[in-house]
Amino acid sequence: MSVQNQTMSIETKKHELDTLFKPKSIAIIGASSKELSIGNVIIKNLVHFNYTGKIYPINPKEPEIRGIKAYSTIFEVPDDIDLAHVIIPSKFVPQIIEDCGKKGIKSVIINSAGFSEMGDEGMALQEAFLQNAKKYGVRIFGPNCQGIINCDPEYNAYCDFTFTFPNPGSISIVALSGGVGAFIMQSLFDLNIGMRMYASNGNACDISISEVIKYYGQDDGTKAIILYTEGFHKPLEFLNTAKLVARKKPILAMKSGRTEAGAKAAASHTGALAGIDISTELIFEKTGVLSFTNEEEMCQAAMAFSTQPIPKGNKVGIITNTGGPAVIATDELVNSGLEIPAISAKAEEILKNTLLPEATIGNPIDVVATGGGVHFRSALDVLMNESQIDSIFINFVTAPFTDTDEVARNIVEVNQLKKKPIICNFMTNMSFERFQKTAKILQDGGVPCYSFPTTAAKALGALYKFHKIQNREIGFPQLFRDIDKNTVKEIIENSAINEFMSSEKVFSILKAYNIPIADWGIASNIDTAHEIASKISYPVVVKAEASDIIHKSDKGGVAVNIKNQAELISTIENMKNNFDNSALKFLIQKFEPGGKELIIGVTSNGDLGHLIMFGMGGIYVEILKDVVFKLSPVTQVEAEEMLSTIKSSKLLDGVRGQQGIDKKRVIEIIERISQLVTDFPQIKEMDLNPVMAFSDRAIAVDARIKL
Ligand code: ADP
Ligand code: MG
Repeated sequence: MSVQNQTMSIETKKHELDTLFKPKSIAIIGASSKELSIGNVIIKNLVHFNYTGKIYPINPKEPEIRGIKAYSTIFEVPDDIDLAHVIIPSKFVPQIIEDCGKKGIKSVIINSAGFSEMGDEGMALQEAFLQNAKKYGVRIFGPNCQGIINCDPEYNAYCDFTFTFPNPGSISIVALSGGVGAFIMQSLFDLNIGMRMYASNGNACDISISEVIKYYGQDDGTKAIILYTEGFHKPLEFLNTAKLVARKKPILAMKSGRTEAGAKAAASHTGALAGIDISTELIFEKTGVLSFTNEEEMCQAAMAFSTQPIPKGNKVGIITNTGGPAVIATDELVNSGLEIPAISAKAEEILKNTLLPEATIGNPIDVVATGGGVHFRSALDVLMNESQIDSIFINFVTAPFTDTDEVARNIVEVNQLKKKPIICNFMTNMSFERFQKTAKILQDGGVPCYSFPTTAAKALGALYKFHKIQNREIGFPQLFRDIDKNTVKEIIENSAINEFMSSEKVFSILKAYNIPIADWGIASNIDTAHEIASKISYPVVVKAEASDIIHKSDKGGVAVNIKNQAELISTIENMKNNFDNSALKFLIQKFEPGGKELIIGVTSNGDLGHLIMFGMGGIYVEILKDVVFKLSPVTQVEAEEMLSTIKSSKLLDGVRGQQGIDKKRVIEIIERISQLVTDFPQIKEMDLNPVMAFSDRAIAVDARIKL
């Protein structure tokens, strides 16, 4: 390879966001000598954090700021500039971005506010600077944001006006809200967890959270990512990013705030049940992002991810020197799907010979409060060598009559093998210098220590969850070929939008996708009704059919188990009187009694495609609310998960002498529905409610579609 080629290949390895996260020189446009201004604090922070690159304060009046030579414009700076902070009134920003472009600056952090968050005028300014940025290939971070931090000692780039100065480590944070980002950073600092990179991008008009996550994903120094967001401007972009990153590197995420998007008043069940914006959670689930609802738990879990390997399974060995906390921990471990198996006879034999006579041998191993370093060590070695143990949970109370430092040193030695994850619930009184020292040994040795058994157990639970994510193969959506797309296309082309289709159209669509439906026919008078009923054979069901009748049974529009012509006639007469609608027709359907009533529904979700819903159906669906959602397209594995995760999943297996349902058929219907709405994104809402599920088949008896 020629020298030139070599440089080329190194060059292409560079990432577009390197000038943002790894700047070799930074200009502060709007640098200020006023102590309490952002244009001053940023310079102060860069210096305080020992930034390794060059700092160029830009200020038209001052010759120097904080002792650093200032320039009146960026054009006077004799060097190249990688990154610029912009801290000037918003109206000047479009021009400054143009200047940055001309100077060859590739990344700009706009700290200033006064853009899209400020209505039309601000929006226009934002669009103006974005246009200039595009012209020159300048990437914009913000506006209305804090900035970035890179703790890699090669850079020490503190391009932010916050006040926490983290130690270098392996957790990278990205947060939409600067306030939340800053307190997460502070929490990690308080927990003594080192940080790698930080980004809080405010309005996120150009560089997105997804791009930052992708960047962290490629950064070797980042072991785990913390994400805080209130939703995504471009959910599809995030879905695709998370698909790439989340299974390789843990993404610990928290989403708060609920948008109105999902809360559209919907006449169909699925729309009403989806209600709030659940799509972000569904993306997390689909892609394997670890979702938290509590920011403290998320930070506590990050401590485990930053220091520990991922367990290879769910079997935990517990070492304790006190009884009760081990019981609490066990409850929480089991809640998280972990197991505490018996240890081997060989292991018991070793422990009998090495532990104190009053020790309890088994799992948990109780080394008792008088147990010292050698006893902990023996228990640790035994568990490390037990092939069926995947992780170790330690309950360590600093009994005053033991050499707690010695215990800590032994834990650290084993921890540094990094063979299996170790989590420590460390119970002590930190006002004693002696125990502070013990704590420091553990901390410096990379042992994640918690002060509550439940918190510690949850952190181990999170590690295990990531193991499951890495091993979950959701597969690919099945493509059924025995379908008739053209028929559906034709029906859809000839249907009005925002209206429920007639049953005739709906059933024809289902039939075209080979979704089983109860035999049916439409009649406008008694004679044809009887003809249809005879053809499909009594008993039948009669349903009132008209464009304005949506929930038929509410209005007496469903009559089941009609056994003969006489009953059919009186039913139809009744309905005619009842509805007083000259356009009223009658859906005559095969009576299919005795099945479990299920619902399979769909609601569209903009860019993201559709949400697919499954649950217990029938007329009580809104009361029971026993439904789960997935993002389309749904794979077989996901459809199976839907059946097994509803609250009443056991009912599907059959209880108290009842037969279970034919799950395979139901799963297939979910997959076919998923294919239908993927093929026809125009479908806005759809419900099959109920699908009657029997032990050997599943069949839809009622369905609605709206475009
Ligand atoms: P709607 O949802 O408009 O009220 P459905 O067609 O879903 O009307 O019927 C309401 C209920 O009637 C169903 O939940 C089911 O219990 C029963 N039902 C409807 N059609 C049939 C059928 N073909 N066989 C057996 N039961 C049925
Ligand atoms: Mg119904």
